[in-house]
Amino acid sequence: MSNESLANLMTETRRFPPPAAVAADANVTAAAYQAAAEDRLGFWAEQARRLSWAQEPNETLDWSNPPFAKWFADGRLNVAYNCVDRHVEAGHGDRVAIHFEGEPGDSRAITYAELQREVSRAANALTALGVATGDRVAIYMPMLPEAVVAMLACARIGAPHSVVFGAFSADALATRIEDADARVVITADGGYRRGAPSALKPTVDEALTRPGAAHVRDVLVVRRTGQDIPWTEGRDRWWHETLEQQSDEHTPEAFDAEHPLFILYTSGTTGKPKGILHTTGGYLTQVAYTHHAVFDLKPETDVFWCTADIGWVTGHSYIVYGPLANGATEVLYEGTPNTPHNGRWWEIVEKYGVTLLYTAPTAIRTCMKWGDDIPARFDLSSLRVLGSVGEPINPEAWIWYRKHIGGDRTPVVDTWWQTETGGMMISPLPGVTEAKPGSAQTPLPGISATVVDDDGVEVANGGGGYLTLTEPWPSMLRTIWGDDQRFLDTYWSRFEGRYFAGDGAKKDTDGDIWLLGRVDDVMLVSGHNISTTEVESALVSHPRIAEAAVVGATDPQTTQAICAFVILRGGAEQEEGLVEELRAHVAKELGPIAKPKRILAVDELPKTRSGKIMRRLLRDVAENRELGDVTTLTDPAVMDLIQTKLPAAP
Ligand code: ATP
Ligand code: MG
Repeated sequence: MSNESLANLMTETRRFPPPAAVAADANVTAAAYQAAAEDRLGFWAEQARRLSWAQEPNETLDWSNPPFAKWFADGRLNVAYNCVDRHVEAGHGDRVAIHFEGEPGDSRAITYAELQREVSRAANALTALGVATGDRVAIYMPMLPEAVVAMLACARIGAPHSVVFGAFSADALATRIEDADARVVITADGGYRRGAPSALKPTVDEALTRPGAAHVRDVLVVRRTGQDIPWTEGRDRWWHETLEQQSDEHTPEAFDAEHPLFILYTSGTTGKPKGILHTTGGYLTQVAYTHHAVFDLKPETDVFWCTADIGWVTGHSYIVYGPLANGATEVLYEGTPNTPHNGRWWEIVEKYGVTLLYTAPTAIRTCMKWGDDIPARFDLSSLRVLGSVGEPINPEAWIWYRKHIGGDRTPVVDTWWQTETGGMMISPLPGVTEAKPGSAQTPLPGISATVVDDDGVEVANGGGGYLTLTEPWPSMLRTIWGDDQRFLDTYWSRFEGRYFAGDGAKKDTDGDIWLLGRVDDVMLVSGHNISTTEVESALVSHPRIAEAAVVGATDPQTTQAICAFVILRGGAEQEEGLVEELRAHVAKELGPIAKPKRILAVDELPKTRSGKIMRRLLRDVAENRELGDVTTLTDPAVMDLIQTKLPAAP
């Protein structure tokens, strides 16, 4: 960003107080903010006691070598024991841990007792294959219970996993295997995707032909689809055969709180993915606490469903580690939201009586595009808290989510966090916060975040600038795998002593935080820094628009000119005069400075595999440049389509 902080254009005045029933029975009340403000480290030490430690920590935070943090460093624990065994020991062995719903409609309920046996077998199998504490294991799987079992088995034996999203290419898989130097890969023959079996194993075979991945000696293959797959004798083994030979008992060993738990690559929205390293005790403390607080989880009665893929941090923290550490019952769904029909998700909510739902703005906007009548066909009355993560949620999408999914009844929690933060950082609390559509609002108890200007000075209420984290937090990344220097340069060099998240934000007059998108995406128009998020939200507030992506393209008069790509609701043809109407609409919502110079209706937007809009590619298009890194793009064909639609710049 240049020398001027972000303009604060949008005003959203709708307010939603917590429902009385949720407030009366909430896991966390306003007192938590107070307690954490008075004694932040004491607060986290207390949260660490949610876990079962083999050796309780005496030390909370060691910040003697910033920004390399150590949390609970003298404590020892086993993550898998915390996520599985202790619930069985507490008498909850018969509780369902995972309701698995396959895309073709097959389903399986897995209790905590069954999960314990499976994880034990898998841990024994990995040990038998020679996987030792500290060795890295790559996991390249569809959304199957075995993916969860594999992750927990790695955690159980102290072998950090590196989960690679199951639809990445052979090259993407190979570079991640190489970067982490994994010697074992866990995969599946395939998975069901859009109504058909889709093969996974051939991609692994191809990845392992790359020189960097040549050290892999074992490949464990889960049988899901039964399709024919190539087989390399001596290297490949069936998961079920290998596990059958193993005992279903395994004694978990305790590891240091700072033992590495996993490496996970960021989604690549801004460029080349970074291998983020997370460790054990602090990570598990924060994901367990935030899941308990932000979803108000009651493990005896709630059914939680996080729709993220296990290959993203949201899947790690809020499918695997947070919910299972809390003894939750959760849904795991294999497929796409529109197979075999556009109401599949809502059918699943009805079937399992889902009470807590966690999804992404991209999915909400897609459902808006498909129409209100689809969720209306299902009984969604079990839902009591709705969560959002991944991108700023446009106020109109927030309102739609609450109204059409939450029956105008449920709190919506917009949770801001990153792969790097490990767990949620900024979010309303459902029983405490008066919610504002489109705002993540308040740092969670024990979290210190604020918005600063170019000089690192905190902005006053009403101002905009850069989101920074001002104190270390338990689930913070410890480094970028194998690259401490990149860790320092990327996150800690922009502002002295602070973590810079890369996102722009503003504080409203109450001091609540609104995320404004990535600072790389901020536009400079006639001397004003304007956020892409605000212009996009203004467009989405027009009844004809389901989704919008906005970029600043170089312009001789105004430095940059706002260029908008929009998806129409219902996918209908563009009527005459719509572009002018949209420009006028934005001018009315935000002021004339934010009026897009060009608006282009498109069928699809370029998104990362995790569903985030890749504005940098649209900027490349708008400026007639060659496209940057597209390796994490869902569908490269989208870019060709957009390029052919784009008329020559005026
Ligand atoms: P890369 O760092 O490789 O470009 P990425 O940032 O997309 O990839 P993630 O860690 O998955 O990878 O995403 C974190 C980012 O997602 C945040 O920095 C922020 O830009 C965005 N984000 C997540 N949740 C929210 C939210 N609730 N509101 C606004 N933005 C959000
Ligand atoms: Mg990022």
